[in-house]
Parts: sequence; C-alpha cells; structure tokens
Amino acid sequence: MKYQSTIDLHAHSTASDGELTPTELVKMAAHNGVETLALTDHDTVAGLSEAQTAATQYNINLINGIELSMRWNNKTIHIVGLNIDANSKAIIDSTIYLNQLREERAIKIGDKLKKTGINNAYDNAKQLAGKGTVTRQHFAQFLVNNNYAKNYADVFKHFLVRNKPGYVSVEWPDLDETINNINSAGGVAVIAHPLRYKMTATKLRKLISEFKDVGGKAIEVVTGNNNKDEIITVTNYAKKYDMAASAGSDYHSGKTPWAKLGNLTTIPKELTPVWELW
Ligand code: AMP
Ligand code: MN
Ligand code: MN
Ligand code: MN
Repeated sequence: MKYQSTIDLHAHSTASDGELTPTELVKMAAHNGVETLALTDHDTVAGLSEAQTAATQYNINLINGIELSMRWNNKTIHIVGLNIDANSKAIIDSTIYLNQLREERAIKIGDKLKKTGINNAYDNAKQLAGKGTVTRQHFAQFLVNNNYAKNYADVFKHFLVRNKPGYVSVEWPDLDETINNINSAGGVAVIAHPLRYKMTATKLRKLISEFKDVGGKAIEVVTGNNNKDEIITVTNYAKKYDMAASAGSDYHSGKTPWAKLGNLTTIPKELTPVWELW
C-alpha cells in the first residue's frame, strides 16, 4: 500500500480562512505531488474559478468543493460538498445566506469582545478576511497578533467558544437543507473530520445514520491529523453505514504542520473511495 496519497479533498484558500490564494494553493499541491485537489472553503465557492485556472496551468485535477456550516443537535458540524456545480442556484443561494449569518455573527463577536475590553476586533477580523468569508479563525489571528492569546489552541480554549468571551451561537442551516443543497448541485456530501466534534459514539452514529437518511453519501476517513486508531474507528463507521470514504488534509496554513497539504495516508482498501461516486 502506498503511504503517500496523491489525493487531497479538503483544503482552504484566502477565499475563506486559508493562508494561500487559490493559485498559491494549487501550486503548492502540485509541488507536493498532489494530482487531485478539492478546494473546500467555508461557505463560499469564490475561490474556485481562480483555482481551476491555476489547475490547468499546474496540471492538477481540481474538484469543485465547499465546506458548509450546519447545525445538528445543538452543535456546529461541517459538511464538505465535493464535485459540486458551483453555479447551481442551491449553492449560490446558500452561500449568500451563510455569509449573512457569518457577518451578523462577526458583528456580535466584536460587540462581545468589546464588553470584555478588547476593542476593534470586528474591524480587524474583517480586514484579515479581506474579500473572503469572515471566520472565527480571523478573530483568532487578531487575538494572537495582539497578544490576547498565545496561539490558536489558546484562543479556542479561552475565547470564541461556549461560555467564553466572544462566543456567539449561530443557527446554521439544518442537516436536511445542507445535504439537499449539495445534492441539488450534483455534489457528494461528506461528513468532515468526524472525530473532531467531541461527540459520544452514540451521537456520532446518530449523526451518520440521519445524514445517510437525507442523502449523505460519504465520510472523511482520512484527515490531516488523525492517527492509525482514529482511521480504524472511522473505517468501521463507514463500513457499518455503507458510506464512501474521503481523504482531506483540511490544510489552512503552514502554521499547522500536522495538516500538510497532500500529506495523507491512503484510504483503506476495503472502503469505496468517494471519487467513485462521481
Ligand atoms: P467558523 O467556521 O467561523 O466558526 O471558524 C472555524 C474555524 O476556526 C475552523 O475552520 C478553523 O480554521 C478554526 N479553528 C477552530 N477551532 C480551532 C482550534 N482549536 N485550533 C485552530 N483553529 C481552529
Ligand atoms: Mn477553517
Ligand atoms: Mn471544518
Ligand atoms: Mn476545513
């Protein structure tokens, strides 16, 4: 079995909270030996056309993707949509709505941080996001840059999370709507990084089962920072619920060395790779 995969189906660019422009990301993928790359920015498809142009130049197979924020059981869950038609009405409408929610949340995060004595967070986060989707990662960057926190792990422990300064709950769209939007756009819905939600096994099984009931097809079995045991755990879920398997690093920047672009274990042979569904 080849250890190094040539496929990476989860990565971010400056269109959301990634460090690299779509062109730079594609260039790095080519440099790292990736043959098939999916750009999956948070709640936006704005980076895809630039990425497609670069993919032609660097001889990469670029899959149109997105990472949608959804609310299930009082938790935010990420669903990756792969091989979507980025011009479909379902995707365009949902990204407009999701970015409205993000903008409203960003304003509220700024207000809440102001109450704890941290000024100008909203303006700075927006500036860091530029034309891209504004995310908590941009607030995290601002907090680290201004020494309110040591690093990102510190931010997501002491700020922006439940019961901490700057936390704002969002009513993201539900499971049914999210999967319908991906399916309407001709894509394949994938549960992103399933072990990162700190859910009990019972809850995670419930999520996968409900996801499947509404037309979800795949689960991210290989992610950037998981170990062998975690891959085995998710492989077993995939087998039990007859889910196809995806593999993606969730690359954001050089600051997270465990999530290196394209540096992934191959999908276990016993599973159906997600690309067989398109
Ligand atoms: P949002 O989608 O706006 O709620 O922002 C979520 C983003 O924040 C994730 O996609 C990550 O980029 C970042 N993030 C969340 N938790 C952490 C963490 N513990 N360490 C580093 N980055 C994180
Ligand atoms: Mn992110
Ligand atoms: Mn995610
Ligand atoms: Mn991601």
